[in-house]
Amino acid sequence: METVNSSASWDVIVIGGGAAGLSAALLLGRARRRTLVIDAGSPRNRFAAHMHGVLGNEGASPSGLLRRGREEVAGYGVETRDGAVAGVRDEGDVLVVAVDGAEERTRALVVASGIDDDLPAVAGLAERWGTSVLHCPYCHGWEVRDRRLAVLATSPASLHQAKMVRQWSDDVVLFSAGLGGLDPSDERLLRARGIEIVASPAVEVLGEGTTVSAIRTADGAEIPVDAVFTGGRPVPHDGFLDDLRLARADLPSGLGSFVQADATGRTSHPRIWAAGNVVNPMATVPMAIGAGAMAGAGVNGTLVEEDFRLVAGALSPAAR
Ligand SMILES: Cc1cc2nc3c(=O)[nH]c(=O)nc-3n(C[C@H](O)[C@H](O)[C@H](O)COP(=O)(O)OP(=O)(O)OC[C@H]3O[C@@H](n4cnc5c(N)ncnc54)[C@H](O)[C@@H]3O)c2cc1C
Repeated sequence: METVNSSASWDVIVIGGGAAGLSAALLLGRARRRTLVIDAGSPRNRFAAHMHGVLGNEGASPSGLLRRGREEVAGYGVETRDGAVAGVRDEGDVLVVAVDGAEERTRALVVASGIDDDLPAVAGLAERWGTSVLHCPYCHGWEVRDRRLAVLATSPASLHQAKMVRQWSDDVVLFSAGLGGLDPSDERLLRARGIEIVASPAVEVLGEGTTVSAIRTADGAEIPVDAVFTGGRPVPHDGFLDDLRLARADLPSGLGSFVQADATGRTSHPRIWAAGNVVNPMATVPMAIGAGAMAGAGVNGTLVEEDFRLVAGALSPAAR
């Protein structure tokens, strides 16, 4: 098919081949856009063997979903390349993407590069992440329902996490040191629903292999638990966008600064969309898939309009 604007090799480069990025690429490939996915290969949920809350893929493996996703997008001519994007340069009508010592030129970008979870520095915690140390009760709460569940507070937002986890078990213990103080009225609420509160800081997660049997606190106590919920600090993979100075916003509950994107994924740059955890750390897999699809459609709709202006020769520099 004839392509418009040949100075760029690609219509769209998708940075990140997780749920959001591959979903955007699926839309774009089917829309006959020359699309390249560049993926560093470390999806956030790589620590978990099974996914939950993902319609049609309940209990499936995260890596299996992405493998199938890569096959599906390849069927529509999308190229997927392993690599880590290091920077993006704005040349007006074209964005230049630096990846592993090479450069790729594209008309538009979908940024879907996810986040890292910066976990609390408690011995024995990181090696159990995704198996018995968990972050999301919607993803893993059912599997540990009615068990003795710990909530290890890391920020004021952990108060809500403790209340959430209570939905899955009557037996919840909150390690409150990370809250930075517990308001007496909040304490009353928690105790009213039977949540036990331990004030001494957690220092070690104990258990055989990747299971959890107890949490040791600074005062030497060992409190028996079967699973731990906690929140890592979300760190977006967006440093490669720094030179473009995209608008950012502080997310509520102290989650930190993230690139701003509207409901269609559009950022403050007219050629850049963003989707999934990189702009919304709360997004689960189906939410990331939805956001990626939305961004893919948003990019294509914008390029469609530009194609007509370009071909008609009506695109003045001021209109770009
Ligand atoms: C332990 C754990 C278990 C989870 N379980 C569930 C579950 O059961 N159900 C559920 O719905 N959700 C679950 N989640 C949430 C799920 O991981 C996210 O919703 C999902 O990964 C978000 O998709 P994404 O595409 O935005 O990001 P990711 O899946 O993280 O994909 C981003 C991709 O971009 C790549 N990338 C990063 N930087 C660059 C770069 N510079 N250049 C190129 N590529 C780059 C990464 O390597 C990665 O492959 C879980 C999360 C964790 C931490």
